[in-house]
Amino acid sequence: MSYAEVSVNSPIAQRRTFSYAIPPHLEINVGQAVWVPFGDKRLQGIVLELSPHPEVEETREIIGVIEPRPLLSPQQLQLARWISQYYLSPLFDAVALMLPPGFERRTITFISPTPLPTDFDLSTLNAEQKQALELIQEKGKLSLGQLEKTLGRKKAQTIASQLVNRGLAVKSYELEKIRVKPKMVPYLSLAVAASEAEEAIDKLRRQGKAPKQATLLEYLTQQSGAVPWAEARENTKCSKATADALVSKGLAKFQEVEVRREPISYKDIVPSPPLTLTSAQKSAFEAIKSSLAEGKTKTFLLHGVTGSGKTEVYLQALAETVKLGKKAIVLVPEIALTPQTIERFAARFPQRVAVLHSKLSLGEQFDEWQRIRNGQFDVVIGSRSAIFAPQPELGLIVIDEEQEWTYKQQDKAPRYHARDAALKLADLSGATVVLGSATPDVESFYRAQRGDYRLLQLPERVTPYDGSALPKVEVVDLREELKAGNQSLFSRSLFQAISQAIANKEQVILFLNRRGAASFIQCRSCGFVMRCKRCDVPLSYHLTENKLVCHQCNYRINVPESCPRCGRRRIKFLGIGTQRLEQEVGYTFPQARLLRWDSDVTKGRYSHDEILTKFRAHQADVLIGTQMVAKGLDLPLVTLVGVVSADTALNLPDFRGGERTFQLLCQVAGRAGRGVRGGRVIIQTYSPEHYAIRAAAEHDYASFYEQEIDYRRQLRNPPFTQLAGLTCSHSHDALCQREAERMKRFLDQEIASQGIAGIELIGPAPAFIHRLRGRFRWQLILRGAELSAFLSPLPLPPGWTVDIDPMGLV
Ligand code: ADP
Ligand code: ZN
Repeated sequence: MSYAEVSVNSPIAQRRTFSYAIPPHLEINVGQAVWVPFGDKRLQGIVLELSPHPEVEETREIIGVIEPRPLLSPQQLQLARWISQYYLSPLFDAVALMLPPGFERRTITFISPTPLPTDFDLSTLNAEQKQALELIQEKGKLSLGQLEKTLGRKKAQTIASQLVNRGLAVKSYELEKIRVKPKMVPYLSLAVAASEAEEAIDKLRRQGKAPKQATLLEYLTQQSGAVPWAEARENTKCSKATADALVSKGLAKFQEVEVRREPISYKDIVPSPPLTLTSAQKSAFEAIKSSLAEGKTKTFLLHGVTGSGKTEVYLQALAETVKLGKKAIVLVPEIALTPQTIERFAARFPQRVAVLHSKLSLGEQFDEWQRIRNGQFDVVIGSRSAIFAPQPELGLIVIDEEQEWTYKQQDKAPRYHARDAALKLADLSGATVVLGSATPDVESFYRAQRGDYRLLQLPERVTPYDGSALPKVEVVDLREELKAGNQSLFSRSLFQAISQAIANKEQVILFLNRRGAASFIQCRSCGFVMRCKRCDVPLSYHLTENKLVCHQCNYRINVPESCPRCGRRRIKFLGIGTQRLEQEVGYTFPQARLLRWDSDVTKGRYSHDEILTKFRAHQADVLIGTQMVAKGLDLPLVTLVGVVSADTALNLPDFRGGERTFQLLCQVAGRAGRGVRGGRVIIQTYSPEHYAIRAAAEHDYASFYEQEIDYRRQLRNPPFTQLAGLTCSHSHDALCQREAERMKRFLDQEIASQGIAGIELIGPAPAFIHRLRGRFRWQLILRGAELSAFLSPLPLPPGWTVDIDPMGLV
């Protein structure tokens, strides 16, 4: 007998596997989904390993196989183990990332007959048992539900168990089929022979009564068969009533035709041949190409400003991968997963691109997953979780905008970072990784500098016109505006520029980062922001206590009446939202047509697109938005981008505030001047001297990086150390704080007793979002090295969550 180590779908299982014996009649493989007994339950599990010996003395047997084909590849199994160990998440949660969508669904119990023992005496069965046995013998296999129809609910269960106990039948389990409702589309066709239709057309025309019907009928005679009604309507401009009239005369007929759900509609996509690479693109491509040929894991950081042609490099690297008989995964931020982006890939690899999108229905996701696993696609493109797609023969992983925070899953376990998961997966499968960005994560750039990654640079825009220069950026000092008596949201510069653009019939984007709004205070005279003396992060204002609080270490002070730097009494709470901005713009520029784009507006499936389409069609002059507007738009009529306040991101109570500001400003600035008219950017701020703002204005990544990495080193922040966040949540605030303090003492003791040097504990402090869904949250921050290894053996009581490498400390 041999044994299987199984990751079981139970919260009790945590980070370990369980040993089960494999009964002789089952063929079990690594990566397979199985049913196992667990306590008095039957649970789903995934086989991670096979071994000749069990890990424990007493083992139970695997009950059955859920799907004969293994669901996870050996690399994926290793990746799941790594995720569980590194991010300290339950093992099954890590495994579940890679299972087909909808895997954890209802199960159906089946009962099937076993060969009757030759000496079996049928008269020992009662009438109902006999009836049931005959039924299953006749059908071969019957679901419990079907048996219930004949025998009644209670009886069926009992009798099935009796038959099983007497060895006359066996039970098996299957997952309920995912019902993918087929998508039906109405088609219209002729209901008569063509000659008859011609006669009818003549007659209609002669009578001169129904010219529309004649037109539609004529159109139908010209088609080779049934046509989608939508297409016929579009081409003939006829109404449904016209079609119905033809139907009632028996000349035409409607029929419903099932269409396959396509996440990509290839109808309007024109295949696009590769472009001739510029010399910078070529040298980047050649480096990636030779790594692909070698087939050994290698990571590239492709650094190039927006519009420098990174995507073309990805496309050609993908083509090279396909040439070598391999496949690829491309990750893009969720927000960039627009038809515009997808089309670029689909046009280069027609019918060979799969899209994984959180907005697809479960059925669509399931279909796509199956087709990917069957090797049907060269390229899988999707957001964060697409890294777990069952793409076989992986040769290349591309992560566009690698600095994006959305690559980190923050709201639930496993709190993985897709980039780190990708690097691990590449390691396991020998794939090449290309990280692309206009503003690389400081940590990635540091790794490239250190030689862990190979740095590839595209220093200039490839633009079809001669405006290869980046847009001009003007930084407006809002303190000067106040001095000049201008209290409005718009500086004199921005006001003039907006008026000018509207007068020229050009378009404007106004950008406002809402996060952190109204939570910090600032002197409106000198721009001074109160910071924590210990952590150097901005202090947040807590309304309930009327105090300023550090969300890292819980340092607290009263709100000063006057500014500690300039002494004036102009301390103000800052922050306005996009809605308020929209009102102000409307009031200030009554002649402008406005469009607002933020997450409140875009809830539906295509509304991002609708807004974008509207704006592109010049149905609005001013687009107002949050960071959403910062990405991926290519709008030639936009000649002005205004950043209403650069300070909201800057003053996030987090050490990444400077980096975040730089990234956002660069992205926003990249939106202007994409067309022949060129463009300008105006950034309004109270801190014009801040290095992140100055570097962004100059489009100067290098000088930003030098300053930022210096601060990181000084304050012992990543990449020089690792961070972990431990958050306790509780319905009672004081108890939550006490529990967090208890945890701190416990961890301090552990650190002391294990003699660990270099792990530092910060806090506890109330979390930035102190109260979430009725529960209070306190957090502790660990800073040091090898934090997963330190935390792994320690018990984490209920109510605690751990976040390794958190994106923000707030
Ligand atoms: P990025 O991904 O860096 O933002 P893109 O790949 O989108 O840049 O390129 C910007 C624009 O330049 C696109 O319109 C693209 O079609 C065009 N482009 C890219 N590479 C070339 C090239 N080698 N020759 C001509 N046009 C190019
Ligand atoms: Zn502090």
